[in-house]
Amino acid sequence: MNSKEGSVGEVSREAVSGSMPEVVQFFDTTLRDGEQCPGATLHPADKLVIAHQLRRLNVDVIEAGFPASSPGDFEAVQQIAREVEGPAVAGLARTKPSDIDAVYRAVRDAQKHLIHVFMSVSDIHITYKLGLDRATVLTQTATAIAYARTLCDTVQFSPEDAGRADLDYLCTVVQAAVDAGANVINLPDTTGYCLPNEFQNLVATVRREVRGMDQVLISVHCHDDLGLATANSLAGIAAGARRVEGCINGIGERAGNAAIEEVLMALRVRRPVLGLADNLCATELVPTSRLVAELTGMMVPANKPVVGANAFAHASGVHQHGVLRDRRTYEIIAAEEVGAGQSKIVLTARSGRHALRHRLDRIGVELPADSFQAVWTRFLEVADTSKEVGDETLSQIVGEVSGLQGAPRSSPA
Ligand SMILES: [Zn+2]
Repeated sequence: MNSKEGSVGEVSREAVSGSMPEVVQFFDTTLRDGEQCPGATLHPADKLVIAHQLRRLNVDVIEAGFPASSPGDFEAVQQIAREVEGPAVAGLARTKPSDIDAVYRAVRDAQKHLIHVFMSVSDIHITYKLGLDRATVLTQTATAIAYARTLCDTVQFSPEDAGRADLDYLCTVVQAAVDAGANVINLPDTTGYCLPNEFQNLVATVRREVRGMDQVLISVHCHDDLGLATANSLAGIAAGARRVEGCINGIGERAGNAAIEEVLMALRVRRPVLGLADNLCATELVPTSRLVAELTGMMVPANKPVVGANAFAHASGVHQHGVLRDRRTYEIIAAEEVGAGQSKIVLTARSGRHALRHRLDRIGVELPADSFQAVWTRFLEVADTSKEVGDETLSQIVGEVSGLQGAPRSSPA
């Protein structure tokens, strides 16, 4: 067995004892939970391409798939485990021994690997999904974790639908999992139901009530059905979680998972308040976002935080004036920091003279004051009938109004 096994759960404990800020790890499940959303199914070769990009982003764990679900997914997970160096590689299993075996066979060639076992713990899931009772769920969980530990030093347990479970029973099941050898406990708000204060209380209660949690890494897995996945992930961190599960672009079942880029930038931007570090390479966020959008076909809305096309674009005159003087007036994140290039001044009918002059400078046009006024007037007429005025249109306006040869496209090809 590889000597590096088990290191996945130990980073935060090392950090606690030293003077370094504690590290929040990121567990990326784009290739498992993310891929489960309708229409996003990935070809194994595409999963491998994304896994290599997740390595560049330097996530701590890649959940590569659900090996028992299909032979193709087993092979994809195994290929990622064999080829992608750096992050630990995880696979998902139900409590069935055959699922656990499939994960182990798929991930064992990775330098660092773990088995992720899940079992429902809310009464609604136990009764209507599983047709079981609380006692059986408890026994099956303990048996599965103990079995997984015979194969692998790092075993993560997720009590599915923890967000709607009876809190005492949740603690009982987590206790059984920890006693059976689970060294990562991932608390999922599977249906995106919890409010941040409730989820914070849930994590804090498990951490306080379950014996042995000081030796266990706590992770959180939040869904976005009420738009609270990022807020709930941060609430989990506030209660002591030191790993966050999420997906690039927030894709995933239904309304999706917590977006890795949002949680990461909240930690970075508010680091003076939160005091936590991370291992990610944030300049890879936008390249990763684009790759995942392209290969899953799940387009990123323009107003998506951090990675959307408009996240660093300014269209109104008042904002443009501020940003041109000092971008910190309206930007809390530098576009370069997340790999988004530079912030963008978009010329629209809401733009001001400062923005127009800035753009004319950028395309190399200098105008005397009276010509500028004429260009400004004509610009507003054109802008009122179009969404955005691009450089080419602007050059035409300059050419028309002032008789200058402002259009670069007029030069001989
Ligand atoms: Zn999920």
